[in-house]
Amino acid sequence: MSSLYAEKIIQISDRCRSCDHCTSVCPSGAIAGKLGEQHYIDHNKCLNCGQCLINCPAEIIKDLSMAEEVKAALANPKKFVIVQTAPSVRVALGEEFGKAPGYNAKGKMFASLRKLGFDKVYDTEFTADLTIMEEGSELINRVFKAVGQPGYETSGPLPQFTSCCPAWVKYAEDNYPKILPHVSSAKSPQQMFGAVAKTYLPQKLNIEPADIFCVSVMPCTAKKYECSRPEMISSGYQDVNAVLTTRELAQLIKEAGIDFDSLPEEAADSFVGQSTGAATIFGATGGVMEAALRTAYELLSGQSLEQIDFKAVRGLSPVREATVSIPIKALGGAVLPVKVAIVTGTKHVASLIEDVLAGRSNYHFIEVMNCPGGCINGGGQPIRRDA
Ligand code: SF4
Ligand code: SF4
Ligand code: SF4
Repeated sequence: MSSLYAEKIIQISDRCRSCDHCTSVCPSGAIAGKLGEQHYIDHNKCLNCGQCLINCPAEIIKDLSMAEEVKAALANPKKFVIVQTAPSVRVALGEEFGKAPGYNAKGKMFASLRKLGFDKVYDTEFTADLTIMEEGSELINRVFKAVGQPGYETSGPLPQFTSCCPAWVKYAEDNYPKILPHVSSAKSPQQMFGAVAKTYLPQKLNIEPADIFCVSVMPCTAKKYECSRPEMISSGYQDVNAVLTTRELAQLIKEAGIDFDSLPEEAADSFVGQSTGAATIFGATGGVMEAALRTAYELLSGQSLEQIDFKAVRGLSPVREATVSIPIKALGGAVLPVKVAIVTGTKHVASLIEDVLAGRSNYHFIEVMNCPGGCINGGGQPIRRDA
């Protein structure tokens, strides 16, 4: 159990050059210190997002590494070590090995994970589908409650906020606890995977849950915090034992002397069948909401959703919105205009939350991703100093 990682994921060393740049990118005001002074992180306020880390020009902000735990598990013959890889990792990993921007290094990534000794190599896409189904179904229940459909009285209130970004969820918990009934109860894809890995997989492979060591490769430092939350123990054991960032996986591959370039492409192991591929858009801002909304639309109308046309909300450029008219079969085809919003950057969500709490919001569904542009720019991604 890695509960020691639950606190202080991100640390500033005493070699701070006092430039104050980190303060400007921190979404939660967690960095103390003025220009010309040593800076510190207030871990009570910190969301573990790593935006300060990837933007510190002196490169003196670090995230706690779980790499040694992963290496120890790989070296332990009693452990069955499995790994999941998030959609945003594969392209960024290719760039770490000199591939052109946009090159999808998925096949070489799976091959290198097997060379590192993982017993099973999985794609998080399948459990991202589970998150989408869960969030889409939950949205339907909340919509039915709002229109007075009998049988949905215990559903949550509207709008529904997404729940798959642990930095945003911590921000809500720390700053706006009254908004929590609006946050989806669905686990993130990482934690869905961990739960399935420690409950279903042991039965399928005839292995004790305690012997499975479950690793995630994520674009995100906040996922290290998420996996160590005390409630993430579906089987009685920690669902995800350790998280490696994209940077740390690249480092492990280099340390092991694996010739990434010459590796033949390999496919992931199959978990319980195919994923829809919808999860591949999870990593970019708007992806989670669009995927869940498409699911809700299909379930409600029996038809597929064509295109969603998002427009920037005036005066709030990191906030975009759209209205989707859903003909609801169960209500005799009555058309419900569902209003959705996408927020990129947690610091821009406060005014939307305040509108909800004051009863002024007319949104049904709001996606919040902490990092600018979404997980593709997460705090665990390779650091580009040339940008
Ligand atoms: S960005 Fe880095 S060097 Fe600059 S104040 Fe923050 S921690 Fe110190
Ligand atoms: S990790 Fe994120 S929330 Fe924490 S201090 Fe850095 S920028 Fe702020
Ligand atoms: S936006 Fe993605 S990378 Fe950034 S904190 Fe949230 S889950 Fe992690």
